[in-house]
Amino acid sequence: MLSPLDYIFGLFSLDIGIDLGTANTLVYVRGKGIVINEPSFVAVERKTRQPIEVGARAKEMWSKNPRDIVIVRPLRDGVISEFEITAAMLDYLIRKAHEQTWVPIPRPRVVIGIPSGVTEVEKRAVYDAAMQAGAREAYLIEEPVAAAIGAGLPVQETRGSMIVDIGGGTTEVAIFSLGGIVISRSIRVAGDEMDEDIVRYMRNKHNLLIGEPTAEKVKMQIGSAFPLPQERPVTVKGRNLMSGLPSAIEVSSIEMREAISGSVNIIVDTIKDALDDTPPELVADLMESGICLAGGGGLLQGIAQRVSDEVNIRAYIAEDPLTCVARGAGRVLEDYNNLRRLLVGTERGSTRH
Ligand code: ADP
Ligand code: MG
Repeated sequence: MLSPLDYIFGLFSLDIGIDLGTANTLVYVRGKGIVINEPSFVAVERKTRQPIEVGARAKEMWSKNPRDIVIVRPLRDGVISEFEITAAMLDYLIRKAHEQTWVPIPRPRVVIGIPSGVTEVEKRAVYDAAMQAGAREAYLIEEPVAAAIGAGLPVQETRGSMIVDIGGGTTEVAIFSLGGIVISRSIRVAGDEMDEDIVRYMRNKHNLLIGEPTAEKVKMQIGSAFPLPQERPVTVKGRNLMSGLPSAIEVSSIEMREAISGSVNIIVDTIKDALDDTPPELVADLMESGICLAGGGGLLQGIAQRVSDEVNIRAYIAEDPLTCVARGAGRVLEDYNNLRRLLVGTERGSTRH
């Protein structure tokens, strides 16, 4: 329960949850919901290395191949490879969220979801970037924890629960019990890898050269992890590798399932592997509560059925799987006293000051 004082303070403070995803970056503002949802792209001027555009506008530039601009996806593999650029992105996001409020309120409190397995240096870098961007307080949370909170899993309770977050660059599996993560796995196989599978398949099987954006579209249209009630075809356009000419080829959903099966198998095996390491009492809990799927990869057709089928535990898709991490990160501030234990410690980043 909020005390009246907390309530009044809450009205005048801006609490922000940020999901620094490999594919999409989202910002959740308490009381408003998701206010920013943009692809994790930054356009950087080649000569000066200065970021000039962030998000959808940067992604748009990408397809046009400009000469003096480099397009960077700073979180592509789930690690922060380009700190300066990540910092610029955070700066843009925090300022934009702050600007959207029309009352003069104090600087925001920010919780940022970071991929599990980032190094101390990277954590520190993200924390510093948030403070530099004008945050009053900044906290870090591991993405699967934020995803689980956003999906409404009882992460603070004794009984077990499980999240599988399939993003663009990484898939994260986490099993919770006794108020924390008991088992976790993080792999660099997720949605992007499936797109690459489709590009490779079209080249090898059909001599058709397509780009990753096209492959992603095909995946979203007819990609699947389990036989569909109604298999269907789609026409894919690209360049024929023999003739060099534009060409259109019809492929079936059965073929595309085969194309991405390698990546899907790895994800399923990772889930099995995590369950293998889970104590039996906890497995019994999971048989009750099920496996919650989050992230954009959770929207792959048949993925829940496939997981259920293979591990013999019911899998289901979180409500609004693409926004779980941002909403979960934001919720931590709403229930700070109970959830603060779940934040990641950095030297300064985990305490109020
Ligand atoms: P991240 O957290 O890494 O930014 P997201 O959770 O935003 O990733 O998910 C992005 C991934 O989800 C992309 O690979 C995208 O292609 C995939 N995705 C989104 N919608 C669908 C869909 N309907 N079917 C299959 N994959 C999808
Ligand atoms: Mg994510």
